Amino acid sequence: MPELPEVETIARGLAKRISRDVIESVWLGQQPEPLKSPASEIAAALDHSRILAVHRVGKHIVFDLEKPHVGRTLRSVKGQQPKKSRERTKLDRPNNDATHPQFIVHLGMTGGLQICEPQAEISKHTHAILKLASGRELRFVDPRRFGRLSVAVAFDAGGIEPLEADLDAFIPLFRSRKTPIKSALLNQKLLRGVGNIYADESLFRAAIRPRRRASTITRSQLAILLTSIKEVLREAIAAGGSSVSDYVDADGEEGFFQLQHRVYGREGEPCLVCKTPVKRIVIAGRSSHYCPRCQK
Ligand SMILES: [Zn+2]
Repeated sequence: MPELPEVETIARGLAKRISRDVIESVWLGQQPEPLKSPASEIAAALDHSRILAVHRVGKHIVFDLEKPHVGRTLRSVKGQQPKKSRERTKLDRPNNDATHPQFIVHLGMTGGLQICEPQAEISKHTHAILKLASGRELRFVDPRRFGRLSVAVAFDAGGIEPLEADLDAFIPLFRSRKTPIKSALLNQKLLRGVGNIYADESLFRAAIRPRRRASTITRSQLAILLTSIKEVLREAIAAGGSSVSDYVDADGEEGFFQLQHRVYGREGEPCLVCKTPVKRIVIAGRSSHYCPRCQK
């Protein structure tokens, strides 16, 4: 399942390759699951829009579109604050003739975005094809159909962005929270986009046990934790950068150069610091890996 660094890498790769291209037409498949917004709304927002930018919000890939001379309102998506979005939309608009819809892709477990030549064979799990003015196609392929496609204006994924968070925003997230710190890190309403692997790796670097109650962690430990989260994510993004083109190219084979995990997936193997075997426990249904000696 792609995590924040992979989604960031994919978004950067797409931005480099299809920004400024224009969507000439849209085909959407018959399977209902991938469509979070009605097919007619997705098609209307995308059709004849220019792709201004592609970027990541949490674990979502967001395409900022420009659709000139159409004054329609898009359905708001979950988590969006209507008042704020109206204000932002107004400010963002260079003039009243243009609307700025956004196309939002969540890859789910197995979703992928492929940039193909039109003659490339269409795999049977293709749920959307966007024909681009450059002659290429952008395809959304997802065998297990946990991925989601939607449209919005001023999309807000909820939570705070871990790479942009400062300590003043980070510390209050855990105040009086009795859940294990691991669960709090995975809570998308608090922190946007930190997944299982990077939560385990960050907690190891910060020497905090995953089952520790979030509210018992001191201010200085939280400061170290925030630094660890940023380090882990940035290292993973840097490692993923070299394989962008593989990922978004035709075959959609996952090509990520993995960050060297220090605890994740290393149950029973010696801790890289103290040689104690790494433990695996289950917290809220998710595997958690930690060193019982280094992490308190
Ligand atoms: Zn250790």
